[in-house]
Amino acid sequence: MVVETIGEAFTLGWRVTVRCSYGRSDSPSSKSSRECNYRNELDMETLVWTRGKAFPLSRLESRLRCPRCGSRNVVVLFQPPRSAAAG
Ligand SMILES: [Zn+2]
Repeated sequence: MVVETIGEAFTLGWRVTVRCSYGRSDSPSSKSSRECNYRNELDMETLVWTRGKAFPLSRLESRLRCPRCGSRNVVVLFQPPRSAAAG
């Protein structure tokens, strides 16, 4: 089964974590490391409320912005519930 929308992920009880990866790309010119490693778990239900259940998971990453540094360079991690896999 392929989960493609946040509505499906919400129904299945998935959890979503977003991690900011701003400043990860090492550029030799800038010596000051302004990295941001902020990460937090998002509320899947709120995402469905705001985006609609038909919103594709693949587009979520490009819609999010880090609340700490404002960067769009974020990584979204989806975690299916353990109970579904282990039984
Ligand atoms: Zn950030």
